[in-house]
Amino acid sequence: MMQELKHGVLTNYIDGKYAEHRGDFIDVYSPVDGSIIAKSPLSTYDELDSAVKKAREAFPGWAAVPIKERVQVFYRYKALLEENLEDLAKTASEECGKTIGESIASVQKAIEVVEFACSLPQIIAGEILEVSSGVECRIDKYPLGVVASIAPFNFPVMVPHWTMPNAVALGNCMILKPSELVPVSSMKIAALLKQAGLPDGVFNIIHGSREIVEGICDHPGIEAVSFVGSTKVAKIVYVRATSNLKRALCLGGAKNYLIVTPDANPDMTGSNVAASMSGCAGQRCMAAAVMIAVGDVDHIIKKLVAEAEKIVPGKNLGAVITREAKERIESYITGAEKAGAKILVDGRGAVVPGKENGYYVGATVIDHVTPDMKAATEEIFGPVISIIRAKNLDEAIAIENASNYGNAASVFTQSGLIAREVYKRASAGMIGVNIGVPVPREPFSFGGWNESKFGVGDITGKSSVEFWTKPKKTTVKWNAEAKCNWMS
Ligand code: NAD
Repeated sequence: MMQELKHGVLTNYIDGKYAEHRGDFIDVYSPVDGSIIAKSPLSTYDELDSAVKKAREAFPGWAAVPIKERVQVFYRYKALLEENLEDLAKTASEECGKTIGESIASVQKAIEVVEFACSLPQIIAGEILEVSSGVECRIDKYPLGVVASIAPFNFPVMVPHWTMPNAVALGNCMILKPSELVPVSSMKIAALLKQAGLPDGVFNIIHGSREIVEGICDHPGIEAVSFVGSTKVAKIVYVRATSNLKRALCLGGAKNYLIVTPDANPDMTGSNVAASMSGCAGQRCMAAAVMIAVGDVDHIIKKLVAEAEKIVPGKNLGAVITREAKERIESYITGAEKAGAKILVDGRGAVVPGKENGYYVGATVIDHVTPDMKAATEEIFGPVISIIRAKNLDEAIAIENASNYGNAASVFTQSGLIAREVYKRASAGMIGVNIGVPVPREPFSFGGWNESKFGVGDITGKSSVEFWTKPKKTTVKWNAEAKCNWMS
């Protein structure tokens, strides 16, 4: 039975070796067709502890390597990612359900972060100043030690790359805890890092679920914890890690609002909103969740509906992660319908011929949602857009501002003035103007506001340098008058 699993029985990855696990395993399903593709360890605290020990042993050696040499590993790693792009994208698709095109794009984004990591020597050069005669102050950035990265299911390759390349290039050693739903891609990442020449112990993987996350928050040998996942768990991890005096940055869930005004370009807006809400089956923290229709935008809604009707599950729409996720998403649609909203495009009950056991929800457009409905406020995390009608821009911005979340917000308009009002007043960390998925490209950093992020700074880009390093301030004075010269 076990030999038949496409990706076999996974191990942990500790000190550059595949460390067999002897306890319980969890079945890993492919959402594409519902088949079991691997078994993943439910690791114990002892396994985490041995990974931390090995990482701590590796740290002094790795930290001592000058950064210009450390990033050479990442130049080689980038080339390997490019060579293996198709295989990585296929694996990510199998385990998280994305279309192959979406997976390729996600690996390309991972590569972009690696490029940024390669440029870190140019960015982290320190500062030096003669502060008074003969006295110099300098600042150097030091790595923290062993750090952890806890990842969600929705981007098995990309999200670990938000943290790993920068943290490791800056001299830290890392423990990655992938989502137990998508553990396979991370093993391929480890193999490529080894091939690129990363010393053993610098990057380690411990599989598991809640217990391992709690262990990471508590382990005294871990200096910093980064987390990406739901808001509920982000809060738990942030509180637990910081109460153990660790540095923490925890990115949470999202509910992204797109404001559409009557002057918006109908074709561009219709296709952008449809792509934003349905890309990656709506399972991305930057997906459009609510379209706030300001005034009469029925002509744009018609375009959106026409675009949504072209989206075919199993073809240009991937699967959602689990059967429970499919049921949850469909229950939000039914709940909105019962509360009086109007379903314009209905994705419930989607079945893909030949993949009847896969987990699919079709693209769904719900109109006349009101701000008090769950479909307006809660994260659905599926290919669903709720349309709320607003009388004017002030009302639209007030609806956006009332959200607990604050990852992204967008405005679709031809008016610079309207665009400016929205990007100045929206309560979100990433804003789009005529862009449905406003992910900042490197070197601009990624991170939301409100309950979409806990901790200071952002997870990628220049902002990440502050998170993964600590500044050392050195003041130097050489006393020429003392005339001591032990060298002569
Ligand atoms: P999740 O919170 O369920 O899981 C994330 C990680 O936490 C996993 O590794 C999981 O094993 C672990 N975990 C789960 N429950 C836990 C618990 N009770 N205690 C400790 N650890 C626990 O998230 P998910 O379902 O894997 O991912 C989807 C969520 O991630 C969505 O809410 C999405 O918006 C969010 N997300 C946010 C961003 C962002 O940049 N803000 C990016 C990607 C995904």
